[in-house]
Amino acid sequence: MNMKIELIKGDITKVEADAIVNAANSSLLGGGGVDGAIHRAGGKQILEECIEIRNKQGKCKTGEAVVTTAGNLPAKYVIHTVGPVWNGDEEKESKLLTNCYKNSLKLAESLGVKTIAFPNISTGIYRFPKELAAKIAIHEVKNFKSEIIEKVIFICFDDENAEIYRTLLKE
Ligand code: ADP
Repeated sequence: MNMKIELIKGDITKVEADAIVNAANSSLLGGGGVDGAIHRAGGKQILEECIEIRNKQGKCKTGEAVVTTAGNLPAKYVIHTVGPVWNGDEEKESKLLTNCYKNSLKLAESLGVKTIAFPNISTGIYRFPKELAAKIAIHEVKNFKSEIIEKVIFICFDDENAEIYRTLLKE
């Protein structure tokens, strides 16, 4: 089944999806940007679970995803995925960003998630070109067939991403 795609301009910590995705870093111990916002709004429960995961499996590799509960957030789960830092190796870094979306969707499916919200992974501090990142995100979501996930919401926080997604999703 094709999943429904929605675009929202705003703050992912306010979104009532079954799962929200965090653009984490490999330490899983929190950072700036959307990561900081999720930990601040979600409370210490999320960090405690991240520490437990670290103690079990070590750092989270780029492109992979892990899950915690969502603490005080309206979502049920936070899926933490580590996006690539943009260094200009388009082929390699695009593949890694693809893996973020794919692995997050697979993990969501295994949890029975019906609605999932993604931020614009890697397009902040990690400097991935926004238009290329949006194309990868939309392509991956459109190609992912699921009997479980019904809706994917792209949460665009900054004006530039919102405009890029609006244009690409119209096509
Ligand atoms: P990365 O290190 O993966 O680049 P950032 O958090 O720096 O992660 O940026 C990723 C994207 O998240 C950026 O497009 C930024 O505008 C966006 N962002 C920042 N805060 C929020 C928030 N509260 N909700 C949704 N998106 C956010």
